Amino acid sequence: MFDLTDKTAIVTGANTGIGQGIALALAGAGANIAAVGRTAATETVERVRAQGRRAEIIQADLSTVEPVDFIIDEAKEKFGRIDILVNNAGIIRRGAAIDFSEEDWDAVIDLNLKSLFFLSQAVGREMMSAHQVDGRIGKIINIASMLSFQGGAHAASYTASKSGVAGLTKLLANEWADKGVCVNAIAPGYIATNNTAGLQADKTRNRQILDRIPAGRWGDPLDIGGAAVFLASSASDYVQGHILAVDGGWLAR
Ligand code: NAD
Repeated sequence: MFDLTDKTAIVTGANTGIGQGIALALAGAGANIAAVGRTAATETVERVRAQGRRAEIIQADLSTVEPVDFIIDEAKEKFGRIDILVNNAGIIRRGAAIDFSEEDWDAVIDLNLKSLFFLSQAVGREMMSAHQVDGRIGKIINIASMLSFQGGAHAASYTASKSGVAGLTKLLANEWADKGVCVNAIAPGYIATNNTAGLQADKTRNRQILDRIPAGRWGDPLDIGGAAVFLASSASDYVQGHILAVDGGWLAR
């Protein structure tokens, strides 16, 4: 049920952090990887190939929706099919709401929410066509956040974007669940990546965060991989519109 042999997964932001962890986990289950990133995902591609799977770099800047068609065309040309999309690329801009700039608002919403939606729309069309031909089920996995459930502070556009990701995940599931596309999300807790390097380096915040995580440690990008394999595989064919927290127990606290 968890076998992904010969499936093709598009993973955005695959060069580092959670995206890399997900790409390696999907490859470990048999998938070939179209590694999308603003910078070339060279290390990820090498590590996937070392696992005996195919991997190709698709260099694209998703700060606008302009490269969406290019990504689809490249993935189809290089692999011939698209079975899985992981919308992982994302950024955060920090600052008090009272002073938050329009630039910091737009940059985060454009990547985390707008590009996620339009890439999903384009891949969704491909998946629905393939489903009509041979009944296969496509899988879209959005990367949400604890701030899909909580308000947080000092990250207005990030909270808006990730709350939006949770809403869109449910909306797309409602529209596409009977059309051969499963749409779900993973909400990572505190994961040690570039994105959280500042928090890890801040001794006080680091201690506060660790004290609140029942598991007592930061997550590793590979901790997200198992959930991604589940949501990418036929094991989750009847799971729709779910936001799966992988958080060391943070939300249970
Ligand atoms: P990261 O900074 O290591 O990874 C972000 C990825 O997005 C990188 O691969 C980067 O190249 C890519 N990216 C950034 N701007 C891009 C653009 N314009 N076009 C294409 N790609 C772009 O951080 P991460 O922690 O691995 O974050 C991955 C996802 O996980 C993000 O959506 C983030 O919001 C989410 N997330 C992270 C945590 C955490 O604790 N680290 C928690 C919850 C959610």
